[in-house]
Amino acid sequence: MNTPADPVVSPIADVRPGAAPRKRTRQVRVGHVLVGGDAPIMVQSMTNTDTADAAATAQQVAALARAGSEVVRITVNSPEAAAQVPEIRHRLDATGCNVPLVGDFHFNGHRLLTQYPECAQVLDAYRINPGNVGRGTKRDEQFGTMIEAAIRYGKPVRIGVNWGSLDQELLARLMDENALLPRPLEAGAVMREALVVSALDSAREAETIGLPGDRIVLSAKVSGVQDLIAVYRELARRCDYPLHLGLTEAGMGSKGIVASTAAMAVLLQEGIGDTIRVSLTPEPHGDRTREVIVAQEILQTMGLRSFTPMVVACPGCGRTSSTFFQELADRIQSYLRAQMPVWRGQYAGVETMTVAVMGCVVNGPGESKHANIGISLPGSGETPVAPVFVDGRKTVTLKGEHIAAEFQAIVEEYVRSRYAAREEATAPGA
Ligand code: SF4
Repeated sequence: MNTPADPVVSPIADVRPGAAPRKRTRQVRVGHVLVGGDAPIMVQSMTNTDTADAAATAQQVAALARAGSEVVRITVNSPEAAAQVPEIRHRLDATGCNVPLVGDFHFNGHRLLTQYPECAQVLDAYRINPGNVGRGTKRDEQFGTMIEAAIRYGKPVRIGVNWGSLDQELLARLMDENALLPRPLEAGAVMREALVVSALDSAREAETIGLPGDRIVLSAKVSGVQDLIAVYRELARRCDYPLHLGLTEAGMGSKGIVASTAAMAVLLQEGIGDTIRVSLTPEPHGDRTREVIVAQEILQTMGLRSFTPMVVACPGCGRTSSTFFQELADRIQSYLRAQMPVWRGQYAGVETMTVAVMGCVVNGPGESKHANIGISLPGSGETPVAPVFVDGRKTVTLKGEHIAAEFQAIVEEYVRSRYAAREEATAPGA
């Protein structure tokens, strides 16, 4: 659950219509955000700025938080970056942004967490990749140093295994053991097992050192959809640590979105996953917040959480040759998303609202009646009028040049009267 002070977090818990019950995991606190247990499936993201540039990083963290990222991870890869982490926190706090920060450590994390205590203190969690903490005896020692820092500062850790940086010594050992079996597994299965074992062994090691079990989150990211599903099913079967889902190196644009959705939707439907990230490769100079919106849309379209009112729009066809309805759908979706930072605090339940924008009379009235508010625009050859439906009933028919502005005003009035009134009376949707 998130504190009321958090400006970006929806208080709506999972409803899981049609999905398997969520697998029960331990609950871990990351700053003021709870992960696992009965907490809503949390959306997180990661910056791509140079952490040593405190101004740019704080700016991007704030943008990600405004978009709805409930936790933001920043890389802490150098002394310069570690030295700037307190300044990043300070800049965020100064603007009222209290989003928890997770430090992503590789190779030199043991040194940075020791030599920059203020950095270790202000971070809300550490991400440790067991494949990137050193080799041989150094590996145990350096991993131990990072876990001891987490114990000393009272922080949780995410033990984040990655296909691309799998512990090679562990993999070699499992491959050797597999070769001795009467019926050896194929190499891919051994690699998946190595990911699972790496995560679980590291978690056990952390607990042995003294980190409480309710301060550990696990992830085991791969870049293949079927591999991800197989690995997380196995992790969920073998432990009750909260699981962070994400397809690594998902790719750009629609490929990244489709692959992430395909993999995570299967797991979420099975009740697996306590927090998600969609790792999209941004277009050059693209908007980093896209990954947050996609993650929210995965959860919302699956009926697992609600973040912002959704627009239902038909794809259009030869029956509506103008682009007017596409522009109206786009305008309404942008308007709804832009209003949410204010509406979220004022109107309980507004994030569950649906608005239908339909292109013609074939499905327009029917779909519009199912939404909270719907408009059925005139298709080619139809009378140039647009009936509007509110809570399933036709209330007005718009015509003329100002249909878009008038419809937006109807949506605004609906939110103001409906959700404000419900806040005082019963729950939204009653
Ligand atoms: S509602 Fe009308 S315009 Fe939209 S896809 Fe269906 S037939 Fe085509």
